[in-house]
Amino acid sequence: MAKRFLNKIAVITGSTEGIGFSIAQRLASEGAKVVVSSRKQEKVTKAVEQLKAENLDCLGVVCHVGKEDDRKKLIEKTVEKYGGIDILVSNAATNPNFGNIFDIDESQWDKLFDTNVKSTFFIIKQAIPYLKQRKDSNVLIISSIAGYSPFQLIAPYSISKTALIGMTKAMAPYCSNLGIRVNCIAPGVIKTKFSQALWNDDKMFNETADCFMKRVGYSDEVASTAAFLCSNDASYITGETIVCAGGTNARL
Ligand code: NAP
Repeated sequence: MAKRFLNKIAVITGSTEGIGFSIAQRLASEGAKVVVSSRKQEKVTKAVEQLKAENLDCLGVVCHVGKEDDRKKLIEKTVEKYGGIDILVSNAATNPNFGNIFDIDESQWDKLFDTNVKSTFFIIKQAIPYLKQRKDSNVLIISSIAGYSPFQLIAPYSISKTALIGMTKAMAPYCSNLGIRVNCIAPGVIKTKFSQALWNDDKMFNETADCFMKRVGYSDEVASTAAFLCSNDASYITGETIVCAGGTNARL
């Protein structure tokens, strides 16, 4: 494996399992020092143990991205231990309801947009003073194919993911002046706990994902896309969303 991230420090939110964990594992395997985080201490401990067992350099910090103090602590502990931040991956998200688009109530809507959109915006804002001190730094946002073609069963979640595609475009010009690239990945249906309802049942999968490759994706396939975007192999790419979805139609 290439070592594209030697001397790089990467913070990944929601990274104790699923896509976030695979991204942390991939960046660390390529030489980065990684900070894994999520809400539950036991998951953070387990993720750190797993990465350390692979001889990877990592730190674990409990961080609920919806809590400002937790986001601040995540950034501070990273800088305290490793001395800076080169890569921030905003991956954590929630989906509080399944149903038709109007089944959601206001408190669920607020939770959804606070976690998926507002927290993404503010953790990036909190990290910018550190990212701008480094050379070739990167922000990566994890959206979803549902941000392009809304999944009817999770329509409000889809709307929150469309906002992240817009956020990527909106942040890129300003960040470019600071030497920071901002990109995004829109994964298709990836085999994790989060999307179990979508891949557990073939009929549901075919109706929802409708992808050329006729299979689910895997976290490490998103992680390799993430590694590309955060590396200098993508040095002339910013403000873009890469669809990693086995050929699922993606058009806004
Ligand atoms: P997952 O396997 O369920 O993992 C979610 C991770 O996020 C866990 O480590 C969880 O740990 C953490 N987490 C959940 N809520 C959090 C919060 N409020 N603050 C901080 N950490 C939190 O999910 P996944 O499938 O990997 O999803 C990761 C990202 O990919 C999400 O943005 C999701 O929308 C996106 N995505 C997923 C798919 C898919 O098919 N799986 C498709 C498109 C996009 P704790 O429980 O300890 O917090």
